[in-house]
Amino acid sequence: MFFRLFALAVLGLMSTPLWAANCATTVEANDAMQFNVSNVNVPRSCKTFTVTLKHTGKLARNVMGHDWVLTAAADQAGVDADGLKAGLDHNYLKPGDKRVLAATKVIGGGETTQVSFKPSLLKPGTPYVFFCSFPGHATVMHGTVTLTK
Ligand code: ZN
Repeated sequence: MFFRLFALAVLGLMSTPLWAANCATTVEANDAMQFNVSNVNVPRSCKTFTVTLKHTGKLARNVMGHDWVLTAAADQAGVDADGLKAGLDHNYLKPGDKRVLAATKVIGGGETTQVSFKPSLLKPGTPYVFFCSFPGHATVMHGTVTLTK
């Protein structure tokens, strides 16, 4: 009974415009090569969605740099491999890579950066991921991007 009431309350909240307008999120990355979230929800109802990446560590960007890159799950390995060759000058992403749907620059400890993209770029039913393209980080630093209503 309690659960039912709670569920109804939550549904009620979710149907309000304020809740639906949550078109931004903050993701943290640290010196231990970790993101603080394993999934990012992107509402389709948002015109644009903004990800703020905050590096909470102290290490420099050429040592423990992080970025936030959005691709289809099937493209992650290829984008990461090509990014490695592109080097830090190109934020470890191949310039003009069409598989990259959104990406921040690579930042170091204490820095913050942002990227915005259109959720309409994402196709319902296609699995999407986010990851860090700094060499060797993607195997640990990755998560899912879920398209929501
Ligand atoms: Zn990283």
